[in-house]
Amino acid sequence: MIRFEHVSKHYPDGTTAVDDLTFEVAEGELVTLVGPSGCGKTTTMKMVNRLIEPSSGRILLDGEDISTVDPVQLRRRIGYVIQQVGLFPHKTVLDNTATVPHLLGRPRGQARARAAELLDLVGLDPSTYGDRYPDQLSGGQRQRVGVARALAADPPVLLMDEPFGAVDPVVREHLQNEFLRLQSTLHKTVLFVTHDIEEAVRLGDRIAVYGAGRIEQFDTPATVLGAPANPYTARFVGADRDLKRLAVTPVRPGDLEEPPVVRLDDPAARAADRLTADGAPWAVVLDAEGAPYGWVTARALTGGENGAEGGSGAAPGTGRPTAQGTVREHARQMAAWLPLGAPLKEALSTMLRHDAGWIAVRDGDRHLGVLTPAGLHTALRRATTADGSELPRGAAAPDAVPGGGA
Ligand code: ADP
Ligand code: MG
Repeated sequence: MIRFEHVSKHYPDGTTAVDDLTFEVAEGELVTLVGPSGCGKTTTMKMVNRLIEPSSGRILLDGEDISTVDPVQLRRRIGYVIQQVGLFPHKTVLDNTATVPHLLGRPRGQARARAAELLDLVGLDPSTYGDRYPDQLSGGQRQRVGVARALAADPPVLLMDEPFGAVDPVVREHLQNEFLRLQSTLHKTVLFVTHDIEEAVRLGDRIAVYGAGRIEQFDTPATVLGAPANPYTARFVGADRDLKRLAVTPVRPGDLEEPPVVRLDDPAARAADRLTADGAPWAVVLDAEGAPYGWVTARALTGGENGAEGGSGAAPGTGRPTAQGTVREHARQMAAWLPLGAPLKEALSTMLRHDAGWIAVRDGDRHLGVLTPAGLHTALRRATTADGSELPRGAAAPDAVPGGGA
């Protein structure tokens, strides 16, 4: 969708702002450009809408060399959001947002209706905020108007230059989440500039890590954090990159363990036999629909004891008590579960919050398996291999125990 081919920009004073950039942003992809101040991020972005012309190389938009496209026509296909939003101070929020549709020739009434829709889309109730003036808004609200205005002409491409840079961290996180939600339905092709690695990792499908005028690494957040291409990138992403990876590495089916599964309405005696046959200390319990309900221990089934602690009575072989009733009477309900694809960070924090040694993972309503600390470790190691393949699990991995059922 956007393709840079050997693009450089030299200024007359001898500054090389960007040096031989070649990369491509796919349609519907959100790429973050991240790097320290002065490394050429804004220059890169402004060359896409021809606010700056390259010294050499070319940029293609949808296969078309943009140097041959009239800049005004070009900018209609490209929404542009900057930090100092540049709203007209004497126009209301609604009129600010309606400016672009109006300029594009829509009748005033239609342009205003479209503007109201867009304000709604970015989380600003038009009936509350539409008639306000920009100086009657908070910084975060002004940025939202900026996003609404950039979307007004429904451009396929968005350029965003540190759009959330001027707001406090709490509001910024809020705006990031809203933008991600928006992007998941709009699927714009986005170049997003930031100097904040957390923001880059959070938002980007892929990240371009800039050094002075050059891209040092261009890859998925998990790979950039897990396998930095060089010492510069490693330093830039931070010494805590392993912790950051937790937020961008999803739980995958291959990370899961599959303890035996029994149903709530199974006879307890049959479930007990099943566990004995598998040599498993516990089983996952599913409800009649196959959705995860909780867990049951071999000890609870055979000792009649509804808990993980105390009691013997589970000794296999002669003298083993007969399990009574159905699994339902012996099972314990789990307090939480995870959807497939949830970040490992969420898995870890859920395990810690519920003091659990494992957590059940679902795909929709379907039970898939359980994630244990060992599985989490496997998933993190997976993220460090450039090709994303599985690595064998270490022998030191502890066994899964039902430490309270996540
Ligand atoms: P970033 O957005 O990453 O902070 P910029 O793309 O704005 O960086 O700038 C890249 C480099 O180009 C910086 O060293 C900056 O000082 C320089 N630069 C930007 N504009 C000009 C200009 N008009 N003349 C000379 N140097 C410039
Ligand atoms: Mg900049």
